[in-house]
Amino acid sequence: MERIYLDYAATTPCDPRVSEAMQPYFFEKFGNPSSIHSFGQEAKKGIEDAREITSGFLGAKPEEIVFTSGGTESNNSAIKGVAYALNSKGNHIVTSSIEHHAVTEPAKFLEKHGFKVTFVKVDKYGLVDPQDIKKAITDKTILISVMHANNEIGTIEPISEIGRIAREKDIYFHTDAVQTVGHIPVDVNELGVDLLSLSAHKFYGPKGVGALYIRKGTRLERFLHGGGQERSRRGSTHNTPGIVGMGRALELCKEKMREEAQFQTRLRDRLIKELPEKIPDIYLNGHPQKRLPNNVNFSIKYIEGESILLNLDMLGIAASTGSACTSESLEPSQVLLAIGLSHEIAHGSLRLTLGRWTKEEDIDYLLEHLPAIVQNLRAMSPLYEKK
Ligand SMILES: *Cc1c(COP(=O)(O)O)cnc(C)c1O
Repeated sequence: MERIYLDYAATTPCDPRVSEAMQPYFFEKFGNPSSIHSFGQEAKKGIEDAREITSGFLGAKPEEIVFTSGGTESNNSAIKGVAYALNSKGNHIVTSSIEHHAVTEPAKFLEKHGFKVTFVKVDKYGLVDPQDIKKAITDKTILISVMHANNEIGTIEPISEIGRIAREKDIYFHTDAVQTVGHIPVDVNELGVDLLSLSAHKFYGPKGVGALYIRKGTRLERFLHGGGQERSRRGSTHNTPGIVGMGRALELCKEKMREEAQFQTRLRDRLIKELPEKIPDIYLNGHPQKRLPNNVNFSIKYIEGESILLNLDMLGIAASTGSACTSESLEPSQVLLAIGLSHEIAHGSLRLTLGRWTKEEDIDYLLEHLPAIVQNLRAMSPLYEKK
């Protein structure tokens, strides 16, 4: 059976051109980039070339990029790093109620250590109102962190507007851009951010590598206390193949991003139009236009998201549900609750995310089979009987 992958927001395959660019750095160019000899220097060249590409991609300067192990580390380092560095100035952080765990968990950790966090609410589309951010600011606020686009419902946030407010109030501004880099234009000056997180495995690069953009002059505690790598911000021998791979992945995105976004938007809009025509009682989550080109998220009433996933998987289709429903917890997605869905409806969500290798036929296949799956599940559902 041919398998169809519609879960690109969770991770993407590593483009074969990326793994090819990484290959020499495992055996031939294996040197420690901190070494003086030629083995070290050729590895260092790979890293510095990737730094040029990464900074250029974001409209930043090479010295403003720190390589990390991915989005989670970049977010942790930005949030805890600013909190520890500016502790004497203030102890208040403003963020949104729909952030990724890699932002909310460090924020909650800081709450246990004397910091105060305001989780600003969003509207029914998942949009943050910049005026609500402004109102949340106090004279103790040291950091604002709002994601560029949401990983579950795809909503793109008004980052430039929030950036202007942050600038006006002279407060550091971080954005988690893990879902946008490589998919839509991201420019640190247009967005007005001081800190920006990205992760290679979300844009056809390898897993376990990412970066944090740090605007020149931003005060930040070290990520890892150790050697002098990354201007002493992050001790630890560089992941040379990973960093080189991330650079190559960004080069490929630069070439093809516009075209890919256009194609994915067309397929996305087909799903947004055709699924509700074929399936009654389903509703789009997130904003109809201000959303990622590759994301749709639907609430499908009267059934559980997990049952849909299992049935799709049997047909070879990989998708995701907004609810983080594991064997231990039956908690629905915090994001879906934050946009105002009831617990019951938040359990029945389906996220389909498209990418570089998604074909029109994949969408045809899904549109052909999903209605019957929903109909069969509803026929067995006690929730549906009560309707
Ligand atoms: C995937 C993701 C992360 C985590 O990135 P990792 O590289 O997997 O640690 C953080 N934020 C968002 C929005 C994501 O989608």
